Amino acid sequence: MLVVGGGPAGLSAATWLGRYRRRTLLVDAGDHRNRAVEAVHGLLGRDPVTPAQLRQDALEGLSRYPHVTVRQGTVSGLDHADEGFEVEVDGQCLHASRVVLATGVRDRLPAIDGLAEHYGAGLQHCPTCEGFEARGRPVVVLGWGAHVPAFATELLDWASEVVVVSDGTPLQVTDAQRRQLDEVGIELVDGRAEALLGPRGDLHAVRLVGGRELPAAMAFFSIGHDPTVELARGLGCALTDEGVIAVDHEQGTSVAGVFAAGDVTPGMQLVAVAIGEGATAGVACAQSLQGRATVPGAPPAAPSPELLAP
Ligand SMILES: Cc1cc2nc3c(=O)[nH]c(=O)nc-3n(C[C@H](O)[C@H](O)[C@H](O)COP(=O)(O)OP(=O)(O)OC[C@H]3O[C@@H](n4cnc5c(N)ncnc54)[C@H](O)[C@@H]3O)c2cc1C
Repeated sequence: MLVVGGGPAGLSAATWLGRYRRRTLLVDAGDHRNRAVEAVHGLLGRDPVTPAQLRQDALEGLSRYPHVTVRQGTVSGLDHADEGFEVEVDGQCLHASRVVLATGVRDRLPAIDGLAEHYGAGLQHCPTCEGFEARGRPVVVLGWGAHVPAFATELLDWASEVVVVSDGTPLQVTDAQRRQLDEVGIELVDGRAEALLGPRGDLHAVRLVGGRELPAAMAFFSIGHDPTVELARGLGCALTDEGVIAVDHEQGTSVAGVFAAGDVTPGMQLVAVAIGEGATAGVACAQSLQGRATVPGAPPAAPSPELLAP
């Protein structure tokens, strides 16, 4: 079994493959989407927890399963082969009978001074994840797409005030949307944001080209992200209109033997959801092998469910 990606989705899938005693290799390039984040919020029983702590605990749990190997590296090739798939990991060729793709997405980031310092603290991109941290405080939104009015309005669930900066690109809003934003007190600024002011964890303001400073305890951006689907595309997995991997209720893709989970599939992009989808993918992947032997020395394989069907 091959799991590509070691974020919450991949780690969860590998955990369940381990519990089913399926020989599993998890390969992770290590660009976890939330690696710059101070805290993961909203995860039941772990709210808040740092991404590093969550990962360490997950790896510790995985170490209980002797048939799971975690390897730092990149899967650079994945193709169909007899009874499974041919895999290339950092120049080495391997065979896998099943694949779980948990490759995540890559965020597009704003070009602004202070990005590295504030990203994952005062600078965020997900109101669902971080809106609560903005409660009662002024917020600046960086973005220009047609979705920005809804994005900014959602932040009013928490923020004391919201200002949208289109960052040098014409804001794609209709006149009706402009009026609605005006009615709820959201200001639209056509300027370009050049710097985030204040130390990490204590953002004060966003400075625009020309010197105007917009008070901001938090800034949110909404520019877009690119699902990491190169391997899925190469295997012929169907994608949705949004460009993520289409899956069924068991996280199975359109290609037999290939499962997918986490941000690279449709649905909310949250750690809890990625863990849940990873669990579904891992269990479904393991069960798809029922009837085949698990590990050397194990009792005879369980009969495949079809044989037991009445
Ligand atoms: C700023 C920010 C704040 C967030 N805050 C929260 C929050 O508070 N609460 C919450 O629930 N969610 C939050 N999220 C969302 C959450 O981080 C994601 O939903 C979650 O990380 C998705 O997990 P994943 O396993 O699908 O992807 P990822 O964690 O991104 O993992 C994908 C992994 O696959 C690897 N990979 C890709 N291609 C290959 C390859 N070919 N070979 C090997 N490895 C590969 C990548 O390097 C990466 O390590 C936040 C996200 C961001 C960006």
